[in-house]
Amino acid sequence: MTLPALEYYRPQTLKEGLTLLKEQAGKVRPLAGGTDLLNNMKVGLNPAEVLVDLTGIETLSVIECSVDKQIIAGGTATIWNLIHQPEVKKSLTALYQAGIGVGAVQHQQMGTLGGNLCQDTRCWFYNQTRHWRKSHPLCYKTGGDQCLVMKKSERCHAAYCSDLAPALIAYGATIKLSSLESERIIPLAEFYTGEGKTPTNIKPGEIISEITIPQSAWKTKSAYIKLRSRKSIDFPQAGVAVVVSEEGGLVMDVSLALTALESGPVLAKGIGEIFRGLKTEDLDAGKISALAQECAAIAIKNVLPVANMSYRPSYRRQMVGVLIEETLKKIFVQ
Ligand SMILES: Cc1cc2nc3c(=O)[nH]c(=O)nc-3n(C[C@H](O)[C@H](O)[C@H](O)COP(=O)(O)OP(=O)(O)OC[C@H]3O[C@@H](n4cnc5c(N)ncnc54)[C@H](O)[C@@H]3O)c2cc1C
Repeated sequence: MTLPALEYYRPQTLKEGLTLLKEQAGKVRPLAGGTDLLNNMKVGLNPAEVLVDLTGIETLSVIECSVDKQIIAGGTATIWNLIHQPEVKKSLTALYQAGIGVGAVQHQQMGTLGGNLCQDTRCWFYNQTRHWRKSHPLCYKTGGDQCLVMKKSERCHAAYCSDLAPALIAYGATIKLSSLESERIIPLAEFYTGEGKTPTNIKPGEIISEITIPQSAWKTKSAYIKLRSRKSIDFPQAGVAVVVSEEGGLVMDVSLALTALESGPVLAKGIGEIFRGLKTEDLDAGKISALAQECAAIAIKNVLPVANMSYRPSYRRQMVGVLIEETLKKIFVQ
């Protein structure tokens, strides 16, 4: 498995990088840690003739992190550097747990925030060698007109498997998308289309230049748990991030986001209402189990896991409730 011949640029300034992305439109991709993109390119996926390596742009890797202020991290800040900020490790548990769950240490050290959020969706019929794929018909994601998993579906169901996205969404993170012409800041939750073929609404020439976690995150309690086949190194087959805000011993809000169960991360709506006003000291293991079931009933309505990874969809659906309960117990009980 080798990379195709390609042109490679390593700009030193954002303007230079964005100019290259504009000039080479249609045949270019931004490159960050390369842990997703280069593997895909080696098997003929994510084709590109030109790579613009963003890691030479020093300003893009900066992380501004101090307690009680919003965290601003550049698009090429590595996962490792963000989660090993002492304050993040101590207080932003869901983010830390999501980060240490990404692949193995090497992926966390090479992998960037922008790359993690823009990683390609995954499917049993897609993440295969060129040779393997040749023995199957084309699917939506490889240029055909069908989904090989959900035969009658009108869309691609490849799964979005970022660990960081659900945690960041549950904290209410925003991203800055920069191109040569413009900048836009949007909630991360709105970045995703929910469609496997084109999972984000990033425009040609744009990159994620900044990720901002609001100041309010410091006052929360949180947890992230993922289901995966191998604990040492694996993509999630389901993942749940929960972020809880409390005031005066009462629960004020709860955000719950899921990953790997759909073609984008999913923020489950209406979870806050279940908890609002409850006394945290009353939330023992028994109450949490009952509340988790209510949350799971809502969460499951928002996702349709399909048979595109090793665990069966029915098992992954069933595990949503288990993961929610475990996550809530980590926050309220342990
Ligand atoms: C064995 C293995 C296990 C893995 N396990 C996990 C896992 O458990 N959880 C998980 O979340 N991921 C996992 N990954 C995927 C990957 O390692 C991570 O998602 C990583 O964070 C990707 O970041 P990167 O910087 O390497 O991205 P790259 O590979 O450089 O880029 C990925 C995509 O994002 C685009 N891109 C990169 N930076 C930007 C930017 N700033 N703006 C716009 N677009 C950009 C690229 O063009 C490309 O399309 C795994 C990968 C491997 C090979």
